[in-house]
Amino acid sequence: MALVVQKYGGTSMGSIERIRNVARRVARTYDEGNEMIVVVSAMSGETNKLVALCNEMCEFPSEREYDVMVATGEQVSIALLAMCLESMGYKAKSYMGFQVPIITDSAFSKARIEEIDGTRIREDLKKGTIVVVAGFQGIDRDGNLTTLGRGGSDTSAVAVAAGLNADVCEIYTDVDGIYTTDPRIVPEASKMDKVSYDEMLEMASLGSKVLQIRSVEFAKKYGVVVHVRSSFNDNPGTLVTKEDADMEAVLVSGITHDKNEAKISVMRVPDKPGIAAQLFSPLSEANITVDMIIQNVSHEGFTDLTFTVPRTDFKKALKIVEDAAARVGAAGVDSNETIAKVSIVGVGMRSHSGVASKMFAALSAEGINIQMISTSEIKVSCVIDDKYTELAVRVLHSAFGLAKG
Ligand code: ASP
Ligand code: MG
Repeated sequence: MALVVQKYGGTSMGSIERIRNVARRVARTYDEGNEMIVVVSAMSGETNKLVALCNEMCEFPSEREYDVMVATGEQVSIALLAMCLESMGYKAKSYMGFQVPIITDSAFSKARIEEIDGTRIREDLKKGTIVVVAGFQGIDRDGNLTTLGRGGSDTSAVAVAAGLNADVCEIYTDVDGIYTTDPRIVPEASKMDKVSYDEMLEMASLGSKVLQIRSVEFAKKYGVVVHVRSSFNDNPGTLVTKEDADMEAVLVSGITHDKNEAKISVMRVPDKPGIAAQLFSPLSEANITVDMIIQNVSHEGFTDLTFTVPRTDFKKALKIVEDAAARVGAAGVDSNETIAKVSIVGVGMRSHSGVASKMFAALSAEGINIQMISTSEIKVSCVIDDKYTELAVRVLHSAFGLAKG
């Protein structure tokens, strides 16, 4: 007998008929002789509606009450799934995060799970009950409801799997698994059988939306093997797991793209200690995260600094940087909102050379100009003009031989 955690996302839970489909899948795994915990998201579109209601009520809703509000979507899902399972003759019981309890810190709307008390769930499992847990939510040590950030049910599922020492954590979604790139851009993209935690972390932060980043961090920390698969068929999906020799043998595992950044350049900044801090501190105080940064070689005591910020924060950032640039005596500020970041990711880069130059050559063969470059041990990202995004993704996908065998 194994302890199986299954998580179903909003699309899988999107209607009464779909919830019945989820219940049948859960029942099938249970009938095979497993103990079952099911973690669910709100029905698709519901969380967006709740967020919109909060914003309609006031411009800056209280963070505590925002969480009380948006946590309700999952309450509907757990009740519907549990009653469906009961009507099929199974023992089932729903749990809100606070009933488990799933203890988090007090960072409303982006809380982190600190601890899960599995005592009650274990008692239910022993009695043969299918336990249905609300994703995305928890309770802080002062008894306030909290939520884990958009897409947080993934993290709930992995945390529950880690906390209860489950044998399997399956994340059911509306795609078949993790692909070498976005199949809407490259129809020949192939589904990966497995991907390492570190590659998945890079891909999630570089624009792949299949798993919430924190769920991958959690899985890595506690060694939970996550199986991402579709709730609409029985095909095997992608295992997110520890790195192995097979993964290292491939140069590049995936190509990602992200059109959600904008570029800002500060021209002729005095090249002396303290200037970067004066430019970037006001941005961090405004909670704007800076991604790539490049600084040119200095000429006659001056240099240029270019960096990227999330496009949603672009206007705010530009205003802050213009003020700061004037204070440090820079010559001016330049900006560009129509950029995209394309990246290649793969643990194989650690042991192979020439990967970056192959990327640059592939882009230049198509006449695509590279505006900025950044690297980590297992990824290379290039900023390009956003009108070439799809082309860039396609040429990189074929340059690294990622198409279906
Ligand atoms: N319902 C939440 C959201 O839409 C959590 C989740 O689906 O994972 O973000
Ligand atoms: Mg999701």
